[in-house]
Amino acid sequence: MRERLNRLRAALQENELDAILVSTPENRRYVSGFTGSAGYLLVSEGDAVLATDFRYVEQAGQQSPGFRVHEVRASLGWLPQLASEMGAKRVGFESTEMTYATNAAFLKAIEDAEGVNKPELVPVSGVVEKLRAIKDADELALLTRAIHIGDEAFAQVAPTIEPGITEKEIAWELEKVMRERGTEKLGYDIIVAAGPNGALPHHRADDTVVRDGDAIVIDMGCVYEGYTSDMTRTVLVGEADETFRRVYDTVLRAQLEAEDLVRSGMTGKELDTIARDIIAEAGYGEAFGHSLGHGIGLEVHEEPRVSAMSDQVLEDGMVFTIEPGIYLSGWGGVRIEDNVVLENGRARIITTTHKRERAV
Ligand code: ZN
Ligand code: ZN
Repeated sequence: MRERLNRLRAALQENELDAILVSTPENRRYVSGFTGSAGYLLVSEGDAVLATDFRYVEQAGQQSPGFRVHEVRASLGWLPQLASEMGAKRVGFESTEMTYATNAAFLKAIEDAEGVNKPELVPVSGVVEKLRAIKDADELALLTRAIHIGDEAFAQVAPTIEPGITEKEIAWELEKVMRERGTEKLGYDIIVAAGPNGALPHHRADDTVVRDGDAIVIDMGCVYEGYTSDMTRTVLVGEADETFRRVYDTVLRAQLEAEDLVRSGMTGKELDTIARDIIAEAGYGEAFGHSLGHGIGLEVHEEPRVSAMSDQVLEDGMVFTIEPGIYLSGWGGVRIEDNVVLENGRARIITTTHKRERAV
């Protein structure tokens, strides 16, 4: 935590801020360790305050020893007061998270404050998110645990998938095992998309019955100590048709090539292109309509972005997904998704679930 605070303080200088007001829950947790649902961090070069209400004061003291806990009451006057005490003039706020109404209330509190040096609120975005993109050893351990719980759940449930079972039943079996093995909650609603439903990348498990010959896309995330895994496998029940063979081979080739060829120093776009070119050459370019991957961590979608639009440079310590897919309306889809970490310039694949097309 101390190191994270140091990195945030370095970022204050880069952004020409005297202090930053952190309100995004995941950012608050990342910087301070505080998991409560309400509160603000106010961090300057020489001070770090966690402002929260009565419900969380004790918890904040326990979880965030590096912070001075300030109990807030109904008024927002604490902000100008604390900023003034810190000598902070330019105070950044997270403009993508703070609502217009909250911002207006803070501005009013600053206007009404008496006997203080009034701070100026400066909109910033992505400051803490950028720090979060590079995982430290503690985070990597938690992510690895989340990912492996998913692997274990898949290994236990996949062999039980047979014609007659519904998507919802598969999702429930997965959820049960994930929870039994230590998941604290689902990273997102489990996607189980059988047959033609697989053409919708984010189809939610419903009462659709699995039939012989169906390809089933399963996308599932476990949360462990706040960190979310994200894995997709596509399994076949019964005999493959000609389309499945071609589509599965293409997606798998694109996925393996991307994992093999990714290097630290590449941009997200360069990595995306490796997989996209393979899929386009096979004639399915139009059928891969989403980006190749995204960072995972305290959120299931975070930095870095691995897309055709991303100039972000991939660096050692980043953990992200590699998940090409092909979706054919009326037929179905195939997606294969692993979680990888960049180490020594290359990807180490953390997900251990096999990529055979059969579930068993
Ligand atoms: Zn996924
Ligand atoms: Zn994903």
